[in-house]
Amino acid sequence: MNNSASLKHIVIAGGGTAGWMAAATLGNIFSASDTQITLIESSQIGTIGVGEATIPPFIAVIESLGIDLVDFIQHTQSSFKWGIQFVDWHTRGQSYFHPFGTLGQSIDGHDFFQCWLKSQTSDHPLPLMAHSKEAALAEHGAFFKPHEAANTPLASAQFALHVDASLVVKYLKRFAMAKGVRHIDAKIAQVKTHPSGDIAALQLDNGQQIEGDFFIDCTGFGGLLIEQTLASGYHDWRMFLPCNKAVTVPTAVSQPLNPFTIATARDAGWTWKIPLQHRTGNGYVFADDFCDDQQALDCLLSSVEEAPLDEPRFIPFRTGVRKQPWKANCLALGLAQGFLEPLESTAIHLVSKSLALFVRMFPSAGNNDILRNEFNRRVQQDYEEIRDFLILHYCETQRDDTDFWRWCQHDMPIPDSLQHKLAFFRHAGGLIPGVETLFQPTSWYAVFNGMGVQPQGYNPTLDALDAERLNLSLQRGAQGIAALAAQQPSHADFLRTYCPAH
Ligand code: FAD
Repeated sequence: MNNSASLKHIVIAGGGTAGWMAAATLGNIFSASDTQITLIESSQIGTIGVGEATIPPFIAVIESLGIDLVDFIQHTQSSFKWGIQFVDWHTRGQSYFHPFGTLGQSIDGHDFFQCWLKSQTSDHPLPLMAHSKEAALAEHGAFFKPHEAANTPLASAQFALHVDASLVVKYLKRFAMAKGVRHIDAKIAQVKTHPSGDIAALQLDNGQQIEGDFFIDCTGFGGLLIEQTLASGYHDWRMFLPCNKAVTVPTAVSQPLNPFTIATARDAGWTWKIPLQHRTGNGYVFADDFCDDQQALDCLLSSVEEAPLDEPRFIPFRTGVRKQPWKANCLALGLAQGFLEPLESTAIHLVSKSLALFVRMFPSAGNNDILRNEFNRRVQQDYEEIRDFLILHYCETQRDDTDFWRWCQHDMPIPDSLQHKLAFFRHAGGLIPGVETLFQPTSWYAVFNGMGVQPQGYNPTLDALDAERLNLSLQRGAQGIAALAAQQPSHADFLRTYCPAH
C-alpha cells in the first residue's frame, strides 16, 4: 500500500465554537504526530456567543475527546435537556413535546408507533408522550441517577445539554492547546491563493504570514475564506423559512430550572428560553417582512420572567448552506458553512457531524476531488433534512391570527422531499428512517403528532394483534415510566449535588 503524503500544516481561521471544536478534534487526533494545527482568531472581532442548546450526539463528541462530562458541565454552567417543549405552534394554547430517545417498545414484533395508532381506536387512548421516558422526566422537572437507573427502562433515556457558548469556547481552547494546537490572536487581513486556486497563506495584521496546506474556515457568517476568497456560492432558502433575524437577551435564572428548552410561537416567529445554571438564555427569531426590530424587542422583553443581565443584541442571518462547503483546500464549518434557525438546536451538531465526516474522508496532499464531492453531497443532504424538519413545524399550523401564521398555513412552499414524507405518513403512519439521518422516527412522530398530522389508519398487519392485550401492554408501559420518573431527583437538586458549577 502506498499512502499519499499527509498534510503537514492545517490552519483554522476563527475561534468561535466551530473553530475550537475543530481544533480540539484535530488536535486530539494529531497530538502525537508531526501535523501542526494552528488556530487564528481576532479577539477584537469576537465570537457570536449564542448557541446554547445542543442535542444528544454532543455528549458523545465530548466523551470521544476523553473529556469528563461532569467536569465539562461544571465549567460550562450547563444544565440538562430532555427535549423541546413547543408552545402555541398548532393553535394558541396548545403545546407539545419533542423528546430525545425512542418511544415505547415493539409488541410481538410490531412497530411501537403502529401499536399506538391502533390503540387510539380504544375507549381510553393514551397520548403518544405517555410512552416517552424523556417526556415523563421533563414533565416531572427531574433528572435521573444513571447508576440507579441501570436496570430500568430509564437506562436508555437520552439527554443533551444547555451550555454557555462562551464557556464552551474557553473549555475547548484549553483542551486543544494542551494537545499542542498553536493559537494566534490577530486579524486576518488578506487571504493569499496559489494559481491553482488553492489557498496558500493568511496574511495577518501583525505582519505574520501563516502558510498551510489545508485551511478550515470558521470565520462565521462572513465566510472570509470559503466565500470572500473562493466564492463557493450559497443556497439561499429564505423562500422556505422566512425568519432572518434574532434578538437575544440573557436574564437571571428563573425557577423552576426546566430540563428542557421552551420554543414559543410568537406573532412573526418564535422565542426560545434556555435555562443554564447561572442565567437563562432568551431570544426571538423573527421574519423582518412581518415584524420590525422594535416590535420584536418588545415581544422578547415582555416574554422574559427575570431582569435582563445585558443589552439586547440583534443578529441578522441568511438561511441556507454554501454550495461547496469544501472547496479547493478549504473546508467551511459552523456559520461559515451555513445556517438554519436554531429551532431544533442543530448548528453545533452540524459542526461536529461535518468534522466527523471530514475525519472519515481526510484529504492527503494530492487530488481529493472524490472526497470533496462526496463530502459536499452529504453536507447538503444533512441541511436539506433539517430544513424539511423545520418547515414541518410551521406548515401544518392552524393559526391564522397574524399575517406570518396565515402565510405559513397557506403560502409556505413545501419541498418535494417533505411533501413525500407527509403523504407517506398520512397514508398509514409510515416513516422510513434514512441511513445516517439525524432525525429518527421519534422526532418525526412527535412533531407530526404535535402539529395534528394524522395517518388515515394503521398498518393492516396490526389486525393480527389482540386489541385488549395491546392496550393493557401500553398502559403498563406508560404507568411504569411515570412511576419511575416521579422517583427521580429534581433537575436543580441533581445539578447541585452532582455537578455544581465551578
Ligand atoms: P463565530 O462564533 O461567529 O466565530 C467566528 C470567529 O471567526 C471568531 O473567533 C472571530 O473572531 C473570527 N474571525 C472572523 N473574521 C476574522 C478575521 N478577519 N480575522 C481573524 N479572525 C476572524 N447553535 C446550536 O447548536 N444551538 C443553539 O441553540 C443555537 N442558537 C443560535 C441562535 C442564534 C440567534 C444564532 C445566530 C446561532 C445559534 N446557534 C446555535 C449557532 C451557533 O451559535 C454557531 O453555530 C456556533 O456558535 C458556531 O459559530 P462559529 O464558530 O461558526 O462563528
